[in-house]
Amino acid sequence: MTFNALVVEKDEDSGKTAAALRQLELGDLPEAEVLVAVEYSTVNYKDGLCLGPGGGLVRRYPHVPGIDFAGTVEESADPRYKPGDKVVLTGWRVGEAHWGGYAQKARVKADWLVPLPEGLSTRSAMAVGTAGFTAMLAVMALEDHGLKPGHGPVLVTGAAGGVGSVATAILAHLGHEVAAVTGRPEQAAYLQSLGATTIVPREELTEVTRKPLESEQWAGCIDAVAGAMLGRVLKQMKYGTSVAAIGLAGGAAIEGALITPFILRGVNLLGIDSVMQPYDNRLRAWGRIARDLPLDRLEEMVQPATLSDLPELGAAILKGQVKGRVVVDVN
Ligand code: NDP
Repeated sequence: MTFNALVVEKDEDSGKTAAALRQLELGDLPEAEVLVAVEYSTVNYKDGLCLGPGGGLVRRYPHVPGIDFAGTVEESADPRYKPGDKVVLTGWRVGEAHWGGYAQKARVKADWLVPLPEGLSTRSAMAVGTAGFTAMLAVMALEDHGLKPGHGPVLVTGAAGGVGSVATAILAHLGHEVAAVTGRPEQAAYLQSLGATTIVPREELTEVTRKPLESEQWAGCIDAVAGAMLGRVLKQMKYGTSVAAIGLAGGAAIEGALITPFILRGVNLLGIDSVMQPYDNRLRAWGRIARDLPLDRLEEMVQPATLSDLPELGAAILKGQVKGRVVVDVN
């Protein structure tokens, strides 16, 4: 029996990689406890890297990318799962160091799976995907550090991207005022439809300044961008508030950052990692997603795709050109 997979191969002489649709057999899959019939996967920034030259993430070729997927268990050597169970997988370096979700079958460790939360289909779970799961982890971290509706506007950077779109929708649904930063003014109506109350043009936050502090504006921030933007945002946070740092779409450093927001305003910088997140917190986040992310808003973010669209979409996400969430129907 064969199945479809998007396989990245590397030419050892030139070092170049190329992704193409291939037929694989079950025996080609890596050894692990649970065989999953994959239904949907997505496209994240890391997928863009793994579909291309690898960004140092892929260990061995040929490689099947896809850092997240949802599907149905077909075989399980672990008592926690049985055939027919619906499951979701994000993180654990699946799709990077291990074969991932860009195939009709995946074999993975039982520890990496989470039961599909009630109220979500496998498709809606992948409309959420790693991006939405990370957005929820960020919202939970801000709440754990005191954020409540009514405290003031919450800033979301990289708002038209995957993490930013879901973060905007969740925060708005929870009753927060959301200020969405975007470099794509044409996406303003989309962001407003997700619940953003203010659109902040990216240029307003990209100049590096030497000022120790700026006027207090934000009651919280979910930052997908870092770089000069995070340096500026930290100086604009209200007293005692927090920034959840989830990404580096604008650079790996925090440019122009000073210690002043931390020691004069008690601002917190909270690091958010979705990859190695402990199981209990994964369950908590997926439960909150099923409760606090309105499915109609989620549907507005979705761009459908198939396995053969992936090489093009991978290149687009690396250029910041993908809007919202791509849902890949692998069948
Ligand atoms: P997307 O590409 O979908 O979104 C990123 C958004 O950032 C873009 O849509 C764009 O938003 C903005 N952006 C892109 N380039 C720049 C730039 N040079 N300067 C300022 N803004 C920029 O990616 P995701 O939402 O999937 O991921 C966002 C980040 O989060 C990535 O760095 C990713 O690696 C990281 N990530 C981290 C996770 C974790 O566990 N911590 C998990 C998932 C993702 P706009 O057009 O609106 O300006």
